[in-house]
Amino acid sequence: MHTDLVAALDIGGTKIAAGLVDGSGALLVRAQRPTPARESAEKVMGAVTEVLAELSGSPLWERATAVGIGSAGPVDASAGTVSPVNVPGWRDFPLVERVGKAVGGLPVELVGDGVAMTAAEHWLGAARGYDNALCMVVSTGVGGGLVLGGKLHPGPTGNAGHIGHVSVDLDGDLCPCGSRGCVERIASGPNIARRALEAGWRPGPDGDASAAAVAAAARAGDQVAIASFERAAQALAAGIAATATLVEIDIAVIGGGVAGAGDILFAPLRRALRQYATLSFVQQLTVAPAVMGTDAGLVGAAAAAVRVSSGGAVAV
Ligand SMILES: [Zn+2]
Repeated sequence: MHTDLVAALDIGGTKIAAGLVDGSGALLVRAQRPTPARESAEKVMGAVTEVLAELSGSPLWERATAVGIGSAGPVDASAGTVSPVNVPGWRDFPLVERVGKAVGGLPVELVGDGVAMTAAEHWLGAARGYDNALCMVVSTGVGGGLVLGGKLHPGPTGNAGHIGHVSVDLDGDLCPCGSRGCVERIASGPNIARRALEAGWRPGPDGDASAAAVAAAARAGDQVAIASFERAAQALAAGIAATATLVEIDIAVIGGGVAGAGDILFAPLRRALRQYATLSFVQQLTVAPAVMGTDAGLVGAAAAAVRVSSGGAVAV
């Protein structure tokens, strides 16, 4: 990467962000628009075009050598299309082709947002220096990505590491994906809040019934709130243990709003991991909070673009 810059796009259900990222991972220029998530495909694309136009107004733009896109999934990197669950107007939307046209033919690389976050954490964050890592975002949904043998592993369609839809409860609740007992169905923020409410927890005077409010109640000693986080931790631990047993990871990095609960999540998670990660080669597995914060999507999309297109040969 050296002196060249990569343009990055981070496409989510609430915002579309773009940035120019240098070889040290610094975001030099950024632009952002709300995602018109309920609008037509072209309206959503219009927001993408706007952030790219704003970026290309920078004198630094001419140094951009590629565009990396991290998008809410599912994505299909082999076809260059995206179908974000929370953006119904985009189904098999040819995002790579459209962005390629908008940027005058620069190479465009697409990965899922979980893979992008993983690229960021491996490049500059909590998974730095680890050759085998699972990185996860636990938030409204549960996403993830893998680093294997020192390299980002996006998989053929850019979705590898989709741990949120690994089933850890064979006869569990139906998941919107069509399966049952998925990690996401148990451990996502809305499901932590739902389970606490169903078991009798009530929000405070401010009416905040989010997972963050459940975490605050747990910190204050509310047993129902504690139990809801323990159940989420158990599901995450089972999913992490399954991943570690399959592909031998050294570290699991967890970010996203739910990870902001800190020890309310991480303490029961580490306990549960001892129950599920039992074989000798997974017992040393480390669990760590993510450190890249809200810029992980952009920095990771840039890193993924460079790493995937160059086979990881770039000095990042
Ligand atoms: Zn599912």
